[in-house]
This record gives sequence, C-alpha cells and structure tokens, in this order.
Amino acid sequence: MSSALPSYEQAAALVAGIAAQVRTQPHRIERAELAAAAGRILAQPICADRDQPPFSRSTRDGFACRAADASRHAFLQLAGATRAGDPPSGPLPPGAAWEIMTGAPIPADADAVIMIEYVELASGRVRLLPPCKVSEGENVVAQGAQARKGDELIPAGTAIAFAHIACAAECGYSALDVFVRPRVAILTTGDELVSVESAPAAGQIRNSNAPMLAALVATAGGEPWLLPTASDNAHALDRSLAEAAQADLLLISGGVSAGKFDLVEPALARAGAKFHFTGVRIQPGKPLVFAELPCNSAVNSHTQEGARTIPVFGLPGNPISSAVTFLLFGVPVLAALAGSIESGPRFVLAQLKNETDRAAAAAKPGLTRFLPASGQFNPAAGQLPQVALVPWHGSGDLAALARSNCFLVIPEDVHALEPGAIVRILLP
Ligand code: AMP
Ligand code: MG
Repeated sequence: MSSALPSYEQAAALVAGIAAQVRTQPHRIERAELAAAAGRILAQPICADRDQPPFSRSTRDGFACRAADASRHAFLQLAGATRAGDPPSGPLPPGAAWEIMTGAPIPADADAVIMIEYVELASGRVRLLPPCKVSEGENVVAQGAQARKGDELIPAGTAIAFAHIACAAECGYSALDVFVRPRVAILTTGDELVSVESAPAAGQIRNSNAPMLAALVATAGGEPWLLPTASDNAHALDRSLAEAAQADLLLISGGVSAGKFDLVEPALARAGAKFHFTGVRIQPGKPLVFAELPCNSAVNSHTQEGARTIPVFGLPGNPISSAVTFLLFGVPVLAALAGSIESGPRFVLAQLKNETDRAAAAAKPGLTRFLPASGQFNPAAGQLPQVALVPWHGSGDLAALARSNCFLVIPEDVHALEPGAIVRILLP
C-alpha cells in the first residue's frame, strides 16, 4: 500500500513547486525600524548611498607614504597628520610621509601606510625599519573597493540578520520595508486534549502541539493564530475549517491517521480541498496530508481575488511527527508566503557517534526516517559535528524530543547506518 505514497524526495519536490508558485504572489509590505528588523524578510533591496569606503581609508595607525620611498628605508619628512573623522587632505609632498590613524582618509598621492610598530621616528622624520618592506596599497582600502555608490548590496527577500542590519545602517537606512508576516492558523484536533492550564482527567492529555507549533511558526517567520481545539466530530471540524480559511496557511494537528475518529481528510474534502498527497513514505509523519483550500477571499490578507487558495498541512498528531513534518514541508511553504528567497529545510553532514546502537539506527525499508538526535556542534578541529540518537519511545515521547536538537536522517534505501558513518541531519 505504501508504495503508492510519494517518497520523501518526491513529496519535497512537490512542496517546493507549490512554494515557488506562492513566492510569485503579491506580498503585503510594512515598515520596520532598523533596530526591530532582525528576523523579518526584507521587501526592498539595500543599495549603497555612496562609495564604500567613501574615501581611501587607512586600516592601521602609522604613516601614509609612497611605498617606493618607504621601502628604501631613508628618513621621510613628516608633512602633516590626519585623524579619523578629519576630511581627506594632502597632497603628500615628494619624499615625505604623513601621520595617519586607523579609519582616517589617506592624503592624496600616498599609496600605502607603514605601521607605527615598524618605524623609527626622529625629530619630525620617520623611516621604515629594515628589513621591512611595504608594497603599493598595503594597509589601505581604496575608495569604492568594497562597493560603488548605487550598488545593490542586499536583495529583497533576504531574512534580516545582524550583518544586514549593519550594512543597512552603513547605507543610511533607519527603517526598512519588510513583508507582513503570514498569518498561520493552528487547529489542533482531538477529544482527548485539554489546555495547558487544565488538570487532565483520566484518559486526557495536555495539548502540547498548540504551543509547540506556535513556536515553530514564529521561528519560521509566521504570525501564529491559535484556533480553539476542535473535537473529533464532523460539524466541529467544518466550523473550524470555515474560520481557518481566513489564514494564509493552515496547520491542522491530529485526525489524519486511519482511525475511526480521524475525520480531517473528509472535512477538508467537504470544504473543497484539492489534495496534493495524503501520506508520505517517512517515519515519523507518514499520514501527512498536503492540500489547498479555497480561501475566504473577503478577509484573506493578500488579495481581493477569489481564486486564491490556502495551503493546508494535516500534520499527524503525535508531537514528534508534527514537528518533523512541519520542519520538512511546512517551513518551505511558510518561507515562500513570507517572501523569503531562502527555502528550508536545512540539512548538514555529521558523523554518527561510534557508540551508536546499530538496532536503533536501523533503516525501515521504504521509509525515510527522521529520528530525534543530539548533535555536538563544537567538534574537534577537522571533525564533523558528532551526532547520537536520543533513545525514545516513539513519536509521542516529548521528553526525548526535549533532549534532542536535530533529527538524524536514515534514507529509505540504506540497510543500516554504521557507527562512525557520515550522515545527514535535519536542523530545526
Ligand atoms: P492523531 O494524529 O489524532 O491520531 O493523534 C496521534 C497521537 O498524538 C495520539 O496519541 C494523540 O493523543 C496525540 N496528539 C494528538 N494531538 C495532540 C496534541 N495537540 N498535543 C499532544 N498530543 C497530541
Ligand atoms: Mg486524534
């Protein structure tokens, strides 16, 4: 039966295709103060408002000179001094040197800076101490070497991090156009669920997926919108889906397995959903549903058109299944809705620790596995990050999830991963 389901790679390619379409749709824009823009998605390019550096700049405290003069080691007459913040001055007379500070403009006609540590100073004259040499351009960054006025330095669609904040500040942007965060409806389903504040009765459990998914959504650049939990009955689900159709993306947790009270798929069908897949050959997360729902166009935040649809993920309710399927498939769609040019998920190579239990790292034929693991990301020099499986009792084991910081990928076509093997890990 499972061979009819798409593989991880097939499902990921399909989701990437939908994400690419979503990325071309119009995105709403708002202003963010530069200091509050970290983590937002840039909606405008950042361009240099002047050459960078704006003048030929000394990178050292020392003496500006002509390299050919200084390399002869004869004394050069000091003809002036420039501090950081002073306007460019000069020109440098022939056979002379010019006192200069880090960050100051070098005088016209100087082509190098000799460092204060390597000179001899005597009664208003300076010479480079042998055997030191200096070559043209040394300790100087020429005007415009980093960027020219008008150059695009950061493209729209970039997820703003500290380096972009600094670069934008350097270019004079005190506020930035950023994309409005997509609103992500989170609908948890299940008769057994009670809120975190409530004391669970016998047979009940706390709804941990709601706050977990909200945290995952916020981290991935979305605005979480928690809907009231729906009970496992058709009418409750119909009502919730009608409300959720106002969102930009819908995450439903639970109710997509094969059980008698797994009613999400039929409810989505009643709401007019178009299904892309109803299961993927992965573990955990095999019952994952991906569909598009006709949107409630009157209130949808993007556009007035009626033809728009909302991507919907029906995430299996077990917490680790929900987390893994969101990271694998939800993140790329959310990134596209957010206007980001980057697309998840993020995988890196690591080395499976030698003491790894072979049975725990066994493959399941026909399924790509994503197992909770603990990666050490400060390995010894020359080593890859070291990764170990976290012992677990299946995809409901939240204590195991809390001990993990990544997921070990076991491809569907390997027999078993050997201790010491180079492996891929999925980063949260
Ligand atoms: P389901 O996908 O609805 O069949 O649920 C699979 C398992 O996940 C069951 O053990 C549920 O009790 C559990 N589960 C479902 N939803 C949640 C939730 N929101 N928080 C924690 N566990 C859940
Ligand atoms: Mg359920």
